[in-house]
Amino acid sequence: MKILISDAFDVTLPDKLAPFGEVTDDTSRMAEVDVILVRSKTKCTREYIDAAKNVKLIVRGGVGLDNIDVDYARSKGIQVFNTASASSIAVAELAFALMIAVPTRLVEAHMGMTEGRFLKKELKRTELCGKTLGLVGAGNIGTELARRAVAFGMKVVGYDPLLKSHDFVNLVGLEEVLRTSDYISLHVPLTDETRGMVNAETIATMKDGVVLVNTARGKCVVEADLVAALTSGKVRAYATDVWFSDPPDPSCPLLKAPNVIMSPHIGASSKENMLRIGDVVVRILEDFIRSTV
Ligand code: NAD
Repeated sequence: MKILISDAFDVTLPDKLAPFGEVTDDTSRMAEVDVILVRSKTKCTREYIDAAKNVKLIVRGGVGLDNIDVDYARSKGIQVFNTASASSIAVAELAFALMIAVPTRLVEAHMGMTEGRFLKKELKRTELCGKTLGLVGAGNIGTELARRAVAFGMKVVGYDPLLKSHDFVNLVGLEEVLRTSDYISLHVPLTDETRGMVNAETIATMKDGVVLVNTARGKCVVEADLVAALTSGKVRAYATDVWFSDPPDPSCPLLKAPNVIMSPHIGASSKENMLRIGDVVVRILEDFIRSTV
């Protein structure tokens, strides 16, 4: 079996895969491989899938499958898997870091210090304790964030159309999440329904001064509407790991908007998570081999 590691995985992965066959990271050999491992960078479009003539299995090391034309791949008999829950803790920790950076004013405090300004009097802080966190999507990552928020004394409400109950998130309608939350965090896949779901209309229904956290997908927000809301102060801050494209186009208006805290799509990039993803990939390959003999 020939395995192509197309994107950046943990350095230990090639050794872990060696017992399964030949492992290469030479993407020009895509036409001869049986298995392709991707993260976010490789886009498995129809053309890509057609060019990978022998491929029987595509594994995405990560949560969403939006960089793979899954229907087309499966229509050609190619199995497609992701490493679903492996990244939950890594992403939830980053979402929490982005969220708590706002009331602690951590970025302004740090920048002030590096610029020789000791902003002790100027930087008035608030606390997460006692505030309401609203989750849009209460699956694996939303649940891990909720766990951390509860430990910090926050109330947690959530909207998730596929869940009937949740152990510690109070499930309510989307309208109630948007209307009652001090902090709103997105944890949805990118679908026709979630694309652009944060827009002028939905922002208008949120609390004045709401803080938005996005570790889901950049395309879940309408950038121009969000910039207008940040400029007016309707939205107090937007803390995001995700972008319309990776990296964002230099003309992306969020890069220059006020009160945006940014990270370069590193939600899943913890060392521990990269090891977990590798272990799940190995299990998927073991199952794949078992199912084909
Ligand atoms: P998950 O499948 O466990 O949970 C997603 C939840 O969203 C599900 O419970 C689903 O019912 C719900 N949902 C679907 N449509 C919805 C809608 N319209 N409104 C509200 N809820 C809806 O997935 P997860 O592991 O929690 O990951 C969530 C998303 O996080 C992924 O789809 C991906 O886009 C993103 N992600 C980002 C990074 C990063 O590096 N920043 C890493 C991993 C995942």
